[in-house]
Amino acid sequence: MCGVAGVFGIEGASSHVASILFAIQHRGQESCGAVARDARGRMHGHKGMGLVKQVLNEDVQARLSGSTSIGHVRYPTAGCSDELNSQPHIIELDHGPIMAIASNGDLINYGELRQRLEGDGVVFKSDNDAELIGRIIALYHVRDGLSMEEAIARTQRELKGAFSTVVMYRDLLYAFRDPHGFRPLVMGHIPRTGSGEPTSEGTVFASESCGLGIIGARLLREVKPGEILRLEAGKPVVSVSHAPLEPKHCVFELIYFSRPDSQEFGETVYQTRERIGACLAAKDDHLPNGEDLVVMPVPDSSNFIALGYAKAKEAEFGMGLLRNHYVGRTFIKPTQASRDEGVKQKFNPLPDFFPGKRVVLIDDSIVRGTSLKKIVSMVRGAGAKEIHLRIGSPKVIGPCYYGIDTPTRDELIANRMTGEEIRAYLGADSLEWLEVGDFEGLLPGRRKDFCTACFDLDYIYPPEGFAEKTNVPSARAEEAIP
Ligand code: SF4
Repeated sequence: MCGVAGVFGIEGASSHVASILFAIQHRGQESCGAVARDARGRMHGHKGMGLVKQVLNEDVQARLSGSTSIGHVRYPTAGCSDELNSQPHIIELDHGPIMAIASNGDLINYGELRQRLEGDGVVFKSDNDAELIGRIIALYHVRDGLSMEEAIARTQRELKGAFSTVVMYRDLLYAFRDPHGFRPLVMGHIPRTGSGEPTSEGTVFASESCGLGIIGARLLREVKPGEILRLEAGKPVVSVSHAPLEPKHCVFELIYFSRPDSQEFGETVYQTRERIGACLAAKDDHLPNGEDLVVMPVPDSSNFIALGYAKAKEAEFGMGLLRNHYVGRTFIKPTQASRDEGVKQKFNPLPDFFPGKRVVLIDDSIVRGTSLKKIVSMVRGAGAKEIHLRIGSPKVIGPCYYGIDTPTRDELIANRMTGEEIRAYLGADSLEWLEVGDFEGLLPGRRKDFCTACFDLDYIYPPEGFAEKTNVPSARAEEAIP
């Protein structure tokens, strides 16, 4: 998971990019960067390891002058965590820089495409999908003489997987998205004073709509799956082409990754989470309500799921665990050791909150189970009488190949233990998950528009050999066996 930003036609564009990236910092905390185009048409970039406030500080923003800028926050999924893999990438050819690119998502056919380009003599500086996308576009444009729009469209057709991408080229800005729309990408507008026809000036892009309000922009719409948008000074935004395939929006964005104040895939994130909580509560009619029952989230991503549960059950809602906000998301830390340390630093139980309480503890998902085991033990140690774990997603049984760093199948606890064994391992009194079938009711009429592959193995692009390694049947994975 990463985040992208783009700003067109506003002086000090890199400052706005930095603000958007700060609002979507939860999508990546390892590195970040921005590129801007100055008044003389030269591109200047800055990137580094660390958070937006440190890397893209005010001095850096002042150096990145100009009215067009793109930026990126990264957590590593493909390629290691270092500065070379940070984005945006400036793609240079013999005659100097021609474009800058930032992208969110992973490609399934990265290896195959990179091999092909290396065979054509292309030299890579990173192991990053965004650089690959940029180099393919540059090759088609410069070597094959295609227009930029044609080069992007041809590249878009050849890539398999997830990409929500912004590209700066000369005085233009492009935004495009993979044909399935795995990852979100929204377009917003900063109103300009004065009259006249609306033009591209004041147009912004962000991975999530929560990045718009911070710079005074309003949400216009999502970049559609398979769409290419072109922004040119003084002209309206042009939808150059739109070639969608079967929608496959990542349902985990709604459950966990995105901020609750975002709107994406036609859904409002916090409302979806409240519906998930209500769905879990509806299955719990055997768990009696009472004065000693308290519903609480593992903060913050589960807050609205717990709220939805408590409302539906008409039970007390409490925040028994305090979260230290100076510790980042433990999920997106790259090693188990850093994740374990993160849990200890991150949560602390409120004094005198738990004794005598039956706690319905809500979490968004169980991946390895190691962090949740520590949290359950913390709540038990603080005096909870009973702990009933309720999980706002189905069992995670498969890795993600579209831009989320989930572990291998063997590391996923749901593949190693039965439900009862997981409950015992975590130390809870009861444990219930959402079911894959619940998405029908949670996303009425839209279930098929969402990817749920990490829960049901129904990968639209199953990796080579996946079906053979799979012991849970999947219609699509079965089809993939040669
Ligand atoms: S596999 Fe899971 S995390 Fe990956 S895109 Fe699909 S739903 Fe999202």
